[in-house]
Amino acid sequence: MGVLVLGLAVAVAGCSAADQNSSGARPVGQGRAPGFPRVPAPHPALSQTITHGLGGAGRICLTVDDGDCADCVGGYVEFAQRSGIHLTFSPNGVYASCWSPHAGTLKPLIERGQVQIMNHTFSHRDLRRMTEAQITTELERNDDWVVKTFGVTTRPYYRPPFGFHNSHIDGVAAGLGYTRTVMGDGSYADSDPITPEVLIGMAQQYLHPGVIMLGHANHPTVLGCFDQIQALIKQRNLSPVTLDEMFGTSRATG
Ligand SMILES: [Zn+2]
Repeated sequence: MGVLVLGLAVAVAGCSAADQNSSGARPVGQGRAPGFPRVPAPHPALSQTITHGLGGAGRICLTVDDGDCADCVGGYVEFAQRSGIHLTFSPNGVYASCWSPHAGTLKPLIERGQVQIMNHTFSHRDLRRMTEAQITTELERNDDWVVKTFGVTTRPYYRPPFGFHNSHIDGVAAGLGYTRTVMGDGSYADSDPITPEVLIGMAQQYLHPGVIMLGHANHPTVLGCFDQIQALIKQRNLSPVTLDEMFGTSRATG
């Protein structure tokens, strides 16, 4: 699979280490939730790496990775519900116990396009150390879990754990229908514990039109920052959108 690289990858996709559970192969999920079409077939194509969004009309893309902290996942879900702000989550199936309790709350938000889920692999391990078969399992097992839990596919978007990827990994992913490797060009720097002052400083630095912002549902610092982030978005006339909304893709097509 050839690789078409659009944009320069930047190393702001750091995440905390996940459990090192082994993963077994599973078929791609074919589930369906009320209000959703049957999960579409993969559409293998050339790979694109996305590092920056389309910033027209003040659009920004807020992405939230991992989810190894149950309170943090719950806080983000509650924030989405009360603020109406559009978010893209990148959960790992290894943290299913943190995400699954919120499936009932998230499904309606996903159905109306306020929330999107992208693939971040099942086990959150370095894909550069894996065989093609292992990379395939990491992506398909996570999509299978997302389909079963939330009723939608993650295709065509995936984010490599720690931001570690190369043309081989992207080629394997694109062959499975993950044709868009989502990096980013802004970060709260909250993959490790930080103070609220640092997190808000990062928000002030990076929340500008077109940014693809990386956050994590791993440490509770962000829970005390939601109101300030929301105020900053309003003050700057920013419009948070999902990846689908920014790039014109859809859950029905995948
Ligand atoms: Zn991560």
